[in-house]
Amino acid sequence: MTMIVDLHVHTALASRCSNLKPLQLIERSRELGLDAVAVTEHSTYRGAEEMFRLALPYDFKIFRGMEVYTELGDMLVFGWSGEIRYYLYPFRELKRQVEEAGGVIIPAHPCRGTEVRHPLRRELPSELLEGIVALEVRNGACKKASNREAERLAERHGLFGTGGSDAHHVTHLGTCVTVFEDWLDGEADLIEALRSGRYRACYYEEIDGRPWPAMDMKHAGY
Ligand SMILES: [Zn+2]
Ligand SMILES: [Zn+2]
Repeated sequence: MTMIVDLHVHTALASRCSNLKPLQLIERSRELGLDAVAVTEHSTYRGAEEMFRLALPYDFKIFRGMEVYTELGDMLVFGWSGEIRYYLYPFRELKRQVEEAGGVIIPAHPCRGTEVRHPLRRELPSELLEGIVALEVRNGACKKASNREAERLAERHGLFGTGGSDAHHVTHLGTCVTVFEDWLDGEADLIEALRSGRYRACYYEEIDGRPWPAMDMKHAGY
């Protein structure tokens, strides 16, 4: 049984740059046919924890993660809930801690733009390659060319590719997703699956050609 997951979402619970509210996330995810959403707030695990609890009575699955700023770019992290002690977390230190916790690291939007934190990458440093299981090759907040570049990088290095919307607003939820080949019950399954490569990254329209569902405007009111 396949599972459609948006693997990179920011909510208003803990990301000040996002105005995606918990109920909007649940309702819109259902409209889109998403089976789960991974909440990955900037530099904190708190939003993911809160969203996880809030979604329980709605029987909607939330995977908890976070997005950590490092000197090698932004990293999606699953299976680690450590405290962020640096604005730019040293990658080596992050890798050590995540490994100890049995988690995984996936560079987010590795080829986005030219900001300091997002150097346009034609090559991945070996230090980075040793610590990751996949690259985010479908990011809803990136230009298609950046995603293609990321995909080429992943292919060149034999890395798997994930997809996530990087939504900061309800209208962007689900624009990019990861389709897993197996049903994942919780984060332990998710981490195992991310290591196994039994998934593919998609733009929403690539899932199975389904049309983008119009949004019920009542969601805007929550
Ligand atoms: Zn980012
Ligand atoms: Zn993000």
